[in-house]
Amino acid sequence: MKLVIATRNAHKLEEIKAIFDFQGLEVCSAFDFPEIPDVVEDGDTLEANAIKKAVEIAKATGCWTLADDSGLEVKALDGAPGVYSARYAGDECSYAANNVKLVRELADKKDRSACFRTVIALSDPEGNIRTVEGCCPGEIIEELRGTGGFGYDPLFIPGGFDETFAELDSGLKNKISHRARALQQAQSEWEELLKHL
Ligand code: IMP
Repeated sequence: MKLVIATRNAHKLEEIKAIFDFQGLEVCSAFDFPEIPDVVEDGDTLEANAIKKAVEIAKATGCWTLADDSGLEVKALDGAPGVYSARYAGDECSYAANNVKLVRELADKKDRSACFRTVIALSDPEGNIRTVEGCCPGEIIEELRGTGGFGYDPLFIPGGFDETFAELDSGLKNKISHRARALQQAQSEWEELLKHL
């Protein structure tokens, strides 16, 4: 059986492939379906976007599909950038521009606590879905540190650690991250689903 990972983000795909145990499934991604247009992520919540991506790609490919939508929720910014994490500094903006804006917005804030959150939707070829969620609490530092990972990783120190996600070994990030926690739950859902297929 085939499972499509509904992303064209190479970093995200790499992390998902490193974390999820596909147990003999044939795994492919949105990169393998160039004819399918990008899904417009216009939902108000991570859950809405994850569901939209999973259902649209599942229906377009006729395959089981796993989609993830993630965001960084910063307490002192009332949960921003949240679902708008990818375009925090404007449409088509870079990771670097988002990080510059985040540092600026938090310049005078004492509370630096934040949480990365991931919602994963699993859709069957007809568009029936299940969702799971994972989060990773931590704090935002004042200057970028580290070269690994992607997105806000150089600004985020997960709780209980002294290094940013961009400084930590990728294997460790893949054990404790929001995406890892959501994928662990997705794994259980998937194993349960397999019993009934
Ligand atoms: P997406 O919509 O799930 O691709 O994620 C939205 C944005 O959240 C990305 O463009 C990144 O800026 C940020 N993001 C998501 N996951 C991570 C992560 O694991 N580390 C750092 N930033 C992330």
